[in-house]
Amino acid sequence: MKSNSNESVFSKFLVNVHRIMAKNKHHLPLASIFLVFALLFFPANGLDASRSALAQQPPAPITTPQTVNKAELYQALLDLTNPWTVMCIAAHPDDEDGTSLIVMRRKYGAHTVSLFSTFGEGGQNAIGPELYEELGAIRARETMAAAEIQGSEPYFLGLKDFGFSKSADEAFRVWGHDEALRRMVLEIRKLRPDVIITNHSVTNNDHGHHQATARLELEAFDAAADPKRFPEQLKDGVTTWQVQRLFVRVGRSNQTQAETAPVVTIDPNELDPIRGKVYAEEALQALQKHATQGPWPKTFADMLRFRGSQDGKIPLTRYVLVREAKGAEALSKESRNFLEGMRLPENTARELSSPTIDGQPLTKSVDQRSRVFDALDNGPHDDIPLDGNEFASQRYRRFSASRDRALALAAEVALSEETFPRVATPDSAMIVKWKISNRGLKPAGLFGCAASVPKDLTETAKAERVNLSAHSDPINPGSTLDRTQQIHIPAKAPVNLPLSRHLYDSSASGLQLDGGCSVLVSKSLFHLELPTHVDVASPVQIDNISPSPIVRTPAAIKPTPRGSEGRDFRDLEFKIRLANNQDSTFSGEIAIGEGPGRKVASHSVAVAAHDKADITLNIPGYSQSTAVRTAEERDLGPITFTVLAKGSARPLARLDVPVVWADARVSPNLRVGYVRGFDYSLPNALAALGVESSELTAGEVEKADLQKYSTIIVDNRVYESQPELIAMNQKLLDYAKDGGTLIVFYHKSFEWNPDERRKRPQLAPYKLILGDERITDETAPITFIEPQHPLLNVPNKIGPEDFANWIQERGLYYPKEWDPQYHALLQSNDPGEAPLKGGLLVADYGRGHYIYTSMVWYRELRAGVPGAYRMFANMISYGHP
Ligand SMILES: [Zn+2]
Repeated sequence: MKSNSNESVFSKFLVNVHRIMAKNKHHLPLASIFLVFALLFFPANGLDASRSALAQQPPAPITTPQTVNKAELYQALLDLTNPWTVMCIAAHPDDEDGTSLIVMRRKYGAHTVSLFSTFGEGGQNAIGPELYEELGAIRARETMAAAEIQGSEPYFLGLKDFGFSKSADEAFRVWGHDEALRRMVLEIRKLRPDVIITNHSVTNNDHGHHQATARLELEAFDAAADPKRFPEQLKDGVTTWQVQRLFVRVGRSNQTQAETAPVVTIDPNELDPIRGKVYAEEALQALQKHATQGPWPKTFADMLRFRGSQDGKIPLTRYVLVREAKGAEALSKESRNFLEGMRLPENTARELSSPTIDGQPLTKSVDQRSRVFDALDNGPHDDIPLDGNEFASQRYRRFSASRDRALALAAEVALSEETFPRVATPDSAMIVKWKISNRGLKPAGLFGCAASVPKDLTETAKAERVNLSAHSDPINPGSTLDRTQQIHIPAKAPVNLPLSRHLYDSSASGLQLDGGCSVLVSKSLFHLELPTHVDVASPVQIDNISPSPIVRTPAAIKPTPRGSEGRDFRDLEFKIRLANNQDSTFSGEIAIGEGPGRKVASHSVAVAAHDKADITLNIPGYSQSTAVRTAEERDLGPITFTVLAKGSARPLARLDVPVVWADARVSPNLRVGYVRGFDYSLPNALAALGVESSELTAGEVEKADLQKYSTIIVDNRVYESQPELIAMNQKLLDYAKDGGTLIVFYHKSFEWNPDERRKRPQLAPYKLILGDERITDETAPITFIEPQHPLLNVPNKIGPEDFANWIQERGLYYPKEWDPQYHALLQSNDPGEAPLKGGLLVADYGRGHYIYTSMVWYRELRAGVPGAYRMFANMISYGHP
């Protein structure tokens, strides 16, 4: 993920403008024009060194508070007192140490950033069916929301999260060690943290991504400062960077290290003086934003209870110093602040010193806004030097931005900004609207507002120009001014929607607009700016197609008269979501093709301006000749969907849906009910097998006559997502006893095992206790323990090849103890580990059957793995020959 890139040219120019201002205190209009010109001609990467890496979605109008927010002013004043940057490195979203980030920003005013190795797209989803890149897109947005509470800025290395792994080596095999290191070094060189903190320790034996990230941090600490490492990065303002200190959180595995090396203790129980909450509570609120990874404690009281706190407190967090720069200031053995003792060169420290009131920090006077304003207004703030020191200038820019923010907040001048339309399309016009309001007591003047797109995207060498006046327009107390500018979105602006299909693009964060408004109050000219990322989409976009991939099984073929050639496929039904990002109604057609150049159907569609439409498409069945049939059975597709405007042959959008052939047969006349979990792969999978199915709510399980179903499936983690089912469980067990087949997909051990406190009995008919073992190698060999068992033979004879081409993993939370009534059919293990036998358990129960399986069928069914369809077909057919 690209983050802040070349800023040097612009920053020098900006600093020059400040210099001119300093020299021409009585010619402010001139300086203002320079400032606005600076915005117009050097728009590429912004005023603020610290841009977040991803735009928030869905885009919302960005607004500074209409009434001055005390907490925000307090933060801006506190920020003026702290020139340091603290970076937290984490493997996945929600691995960041939110509490420490919050304490460092909210208590000490440090600039805080978090850097994530991955988007966490290999994880699970506790709130919806999205997985993989779709999940990654959601988690990126969750991370943005959490970071907003933490007061930090998130950045991503964009390494692939391929799911749980047990070793760093497996992670490096996928990521490439050097590539991962290169990305981390680049971010450190750009973001220039003085201190890095992390929860991941090289001594810990946890998730392979955590171990790999922990190793990378140590290497990057040295490599970022070494001009011989990745020298190609050292251009466009990127220089080597020496981090001063690296801290690793103290856990069981690195306790001995903490006995000798300096330790920093963060107390999450301290009160945030301005927000009236303890930092741990703010951290919980940030954590709750990672909703896909929940459930999290709902309240702070719940969290205390969950953690078994006796005294209403959260344990202290301790970090051990594992690396420090040569010549770094000494850190005492026990400290409360990662930055203790750190010092800037005397000159820089003087230039970056905040004004005070009666020798007290400005934060003490946060309730006396006009005194704060006067102190800032009279402060020695115009004289920002440009000494060619890139490192220093980043701190200066941050200082200057904090001061501008503080001036605006203290003067109660606020800016709101909106773009129309919200989603841009390449080669179109976009309107930016600003509202500048003065709710303070002092008159203000507006010198102008301007916005522009990155210079490297514009077709002409010159950026756009707006009319500037040499005079300011008054914004009297209580009044508001509106400003509007039309900008042209360049034809080569990269598309970033839908984000799931652009997650790894450097343009995933959207198009960055630079600009803002220049305001004068008293003798201070300050710049109001809001980070604006505009999402860019094609004029018409296919948001989603379901099912994808298409799995064709024998059920997709119509019975043909004996002796006839070829085969006739049944109709196919697709659901497609189309988004029209244009200002006018889109009318056109969706052309559906199969095979090279073969158009099988077309549907006319109309979607209102800036709207979305869900469309159901039927593809009529057709015959396939024997010649095609005898070709590769699997290679049937893809089916292509092309969106065309009326009367145009130029495709506006196109998506291919792969087609998979699975020779999976089911028993006749099956009727399957399923209780839906977090995931939603079952309806498409059952439809592909030609099986009639319906979803059952917990209420229906309670009331409905279950005997009309031949088979009932309790999907992944349903006893967690629908805990009310636990009370109905006896009805499900009775259903099996009376002749039904009950299938339960994987659950986590703590969601399943009997637990009196949670009123959860044994949920299976016979004892079945889950452990925490996983098989993460998706190629781990499978041994058949009972090869003759009917579940492995009817209707489909299952063989080792049915476990080929699996994705991500074999299974998780394998049973560790089970009653002898169960037959364990499969055995497998990760390399070098003990065999696990509980992946597929089946038992007779009364006149019916019970199957518990901890294997990840949902991932395989969703991905269209043919063998998984064959095994799944046997499971739902079991007991119904
Ligand atoms: Zn993690």
